[in-house]
Amino acid sequence: SYQKVLEENRKLYNQVQDLKGNIRVYCRVRPFLPGQPNSLSTVDHLDDGNITITTPSKYGKEGKKSFTFNKVFGPSGTQEEVFADTQPLIRSVLDGYNVCIFAYGQTGSGKTHTMTGPSDLTKETLGVNYRALSDLFNISEQRKDVISYDISVQMVEIYNEQVRDLLTPDGVNKKVEIRNSSQKGFNVPDANLVPVTSTSDVLNLMNLGHKNRAVSATAMNDRSSRSHSCLTVHVQGKNMTSGTILRGSMHLVDLAGSERVDKSEVLGDRLKEATHINKSLSALGDVIASLAQKNSHVPYRNSKLTQLLQDSLGGQAKTLMFVHVSPELNAVGETLSTLKFAERVSTVELGSARANKEGSDVKELREQISSLKAALARKE
Ligand code: ADP
Ligand code: MG
Repeated sequence: SYQKVLEENRKLYNQVQDLKGNIRVYCRVRPFLPGQPNSLSTVDHLDDGNITITTPSKYGKEGKKSFTFNKVFGPSGTQEEVFADTQPLIRSVLDGYNVCIFAYGQTGSGKTHTMTGPSDLTKETLGVNYRALSDLFNISEQRKDVISYDISVQMVEIYNEQVRDLLTPDGVNKKVEIRNSSQKGFNVPDANLVPVTSTSDVLNLMNLGHKNRAVSATAMNDRSSRSHSCLTVHVQGKNMTSGTILRGSMHLVDLAGSERVDKSEVLGDRLKEATHINKSLSALGDVIASLAQKNSHVPYRNSKLTQLLQDSLGGQAKTLMFVHVSPELNAVGETLSTLKFAERVSTVELGSARANKEGSDVKELREQISSLKAALARKE
């Protein structure tokens, strides 16, 4: 089994080199929902990496527009297929990488479905969050004679530029602050940090998080679409031979709905929410653009969202954005603006100057490979 781990690690090393420094964008098209008339879709064509959207004259300027992404999942794409293409990125957390995975799209396009799954969860419909943690447990178990891992999670919500802890046992979503000066990865030191060792721990926490989110949602209907939720996984691994400690973290973010709200038509709380969402999603776009242009100043501080994710955006961190689109004709305006945002993001090549140079993270991975080799030699 050492041989297997070693091979696994080599493969990962190559994949990680490949993924590093780029923002990958995967597009996912939601199927029509049961009971919905599914006669016509805005998706004119779709293949592994391309999608063409058609606009009928009734819904705007008639025409077709094509987009290219790292991957396109059609309406029949399963949770398992989506996860399979995300796995290498997720596994790199165990090698000390910082990873950030976003779900972007208008309300109802399938963000929560991808990250968490539908409300009537089954084994088949479990989302990325659960599968990611389950995979981390499996790999850490395989490596346990070589590296000893501790895995813990935090879960927060950002609503109206306030960060709240979703893992409070008493259901009171305590307001917490972001402190970027703290230990690597721990940007919200006051939010509960819960050690997890099994998938049942994860299910319990996910339930607690959702319950806490639902509690606050009763006052304002469907608050979940107007707040960002972020599950952060912290990994610490100790190399049993060299004693080297490595730390990785992963943010799994279900963003607020990206739909534009007509400001002339909303007032009060809705206007305030819309303004905050708009501000944080455009701050995210600005940070990515600024990283792409290799500006010396990256405007992380313009929103809580970008502050929270600061150490997982840019540099050696790896980012994946799932962009979700709805197939309905009347959603075509939002679909096009979602895909345009995603196209801007996907052309970004972060830190390409460093792509061939070995960073300390890669050195660690090489160290691990030699420890594994040594362990293998001892076994033989
Ligand atoms: P969002 O979080 O973007 O507002 P949801 O994830 O809640 O959207 O999706 C809206 C509805 O569509 C839910 O009932 C969800 O279960 C369903 N849905 C979304 N994506 C898929 C999919 N790929 N396959 C089947 N049902 C989906
Ligand atoms: Mg949702």
